[in-house]
Amino acid sequence: MRRFYFDPQTRNGDEVSLSDEESHHIVKVLRLSAGEHVELLDGQGAVFRAVIVGTGRRVALRIEGIAATAPEPDKTLRIGQGILKGDKMDTVVQKCTELGVSRFTPFHSSRCQGKLDPVQSRKKQERWQRIGLEACKQCLRLRVPHLDGPVSYGELLQGKAMENDQSLRLLFWEEEKELHVRDLPEIGAAPSVFLLLGPEGGFTHEEVELARAAGFRTVSLGERILRAETASLTAVAIVQFLAGNL
Ligand code: SAH
Repeated sequence: MRRFYFDPQTRNGDEVSLSDEESHHIVKVLRLSAGEHVELLDGQGAVFRAVIVGTGRRVALRIEGIAATAPEPDKTLRIGQGILKGDKMDTVVQKCTELGVSRFTPFHSSRCQGKLDPVQSRKKQERWQRIGLEACKQCLRLRVPHLDGPVSYGELLQGKAMENDQSLRLLFWEEEKELHVRDLPEIGAAPSVFLLLGPEGGFTHEEVELARAAGFRTVSLGERILRAETASLTAVAIVQFLAGNL
């Protein structure tokens, strides 16, 4: 069954209308018409059965029942990712969504290349949100990850939310020679885990010290220096495996 996203805030009783983008897909690409059945994803853990009732610029549907629900995850994984060049962030957002990341926070740090102005930041955030949503539809994930707008490294470490956050905190660093991620069995017991991964140029020593002061432990992925996007996906896959989320 075809699956589309709707914003639960726009729901009016059993009536739902879709965004321009989802409507375009239904009407122009798939050429579905009134009376046809689809599934509607609310991004918050539920999928509904629905029937198309109108195919204007914004497709209208009537919800007929619940098709599936997903429980709240008992463990959450948050990623802080140094902003990468070109479309590499798109890839990391897509794969992290498939791998079950709950929250994704892009950050600027001193070795990030190119700075985003506020308009570019907003556009990028919207783009990453769309990519996360599409990845959810494709992999049948019911909860859309929370995609933050880009923040500075300082904001990421000092935010109010960090003070109350009890997550196990790990910074992946190629210069860490003692602690390998496989030697952290506590990942299995932690209710939430927060990972930091650097941009192409990596972290400066000063940035590593700032993270340590904020409660992060530095961990290694082995001898080889991995490309940033390889490191991120490897780190997420290993942590999700150790956490029993894969
Ligand atoms: N500063 C380095 C490489 C940075 S790699 C240089 O330019 O030579 C980009 C990011 O991938 C790093 O910031 C780190 O978070 C992660 N990374 C790459 N290889 C790693 C490894 N072997 N162990 C842990 N993290 C690694």
